[in-house]
Amino acid sequence: MTVQDIPLNDGTTIPQLGFGVFQIDPAETQAAVEKALEVGYRHLDTAKIYRNEGGVGAALAASGLDRDDVFVTTKLWNSNQGYDSTLAAFDASMDRLGLEVLDLYLIHWPTPEKDLFVDTWKAFEKLKADGRVRSIGVSNFRVQDLQRLLDEGLTVPSVNQIELHPALTQDALRAFHAEHDIATEAWSPLAQGAVLDEQAVLDAADAHDATPGQVVLAWHLAQGNIVFPKSVTPERIESNFGATDVSLSDDEIAAISSINRDERVGPDPSTLN
Ligand code: NDP
Repeated sequence: MTVQDIPLNDGTTIPQLGFGVFQIDPAETQAAVEKALEVGYRHLDTAKIYRNEGGVGAALAASGLDRDDVFVTTKLWNSNQGYDSTLAAFDASMDRLGLEVLDLYLIHWPTPEKDLFVDTWKAFEKLKADGRVRSIGVSNFRVQDLQRLLDEGLTVPSVNQIELHPALTQDALRAFHAEHDIATEAWSPLAQGAVLDEQAVLDAADAHDATPGQVVLAWHLAQGNIVFPKSVTPERIESNFGATDVSLSDDEIAAISSINRDERVGPDPSTLN
């Protein structure tokens, strides 16, 4: 099982397969993350709003792993957008994580009605210039939100973390990312389970003696998406990590891509404020 390191546009790299902790109860987070680290995951994706940064930090401390061996992402919540409030929220997240330097900080949502993400992004640029965070990126940004940062002449985000899975392939955003050297992170990579019984997924699972979860994750990896499936089930935490061993054919990838029905399992960034 070898997880690829994906190069980012600022010269750093990120492990392509990680572990997400959305909807993991804060009291269960340390145990789930410890299991993930034991299995071999070296990339963790949390957020202030998940209320479990503390559990992630506790698992990291208990693991005895070198700080530089684990890539950690957290996200700025919507109510903290704005220049000064971003700097304060970052410090609070770092206290909960128990870290000195963060690998990746993301603006969680563009929240178009607030219209604060340009000021917020300037605070992100300061955090990077000050060496508090190695890479900065965004999440749930639409093409017009990314274009706005480019038009303002600001740093090009290293990643955009968006909902992406076989039922929502996001072709237009992925093409924009490729054109501007922005890495694509796919959230809810398994569509929270909703695509695991699709025939194209089951056929490939049969052919490769793999689980449906492994097949969907292998579909992401083959296209260069960065993924961090969530699970609190030890067997799934382990089997999902095995997706790196599954190599799909071009026909299988195309069949899984044709599941697309532009269907979200989470909120629409245009209306979440
Ligand atoms: P996922 O697509 O990762 O699906 C998680 C769900 O699928 C859980 O119910 C889990 O159940 C189940 N599951 C996991 N593995 C398997 C498997 N092999 N077979 C069957 N079922 C499985 O959804 P998430 O929404 O959690 O997304 C992953 C991560 O993306 C989050 O944890 C978070 O880090 C990030 N995210 C970011 C968002 C953003 O706005 N930026 C929004 C949403 C997510 P169980 O736990 O019971 O095993």
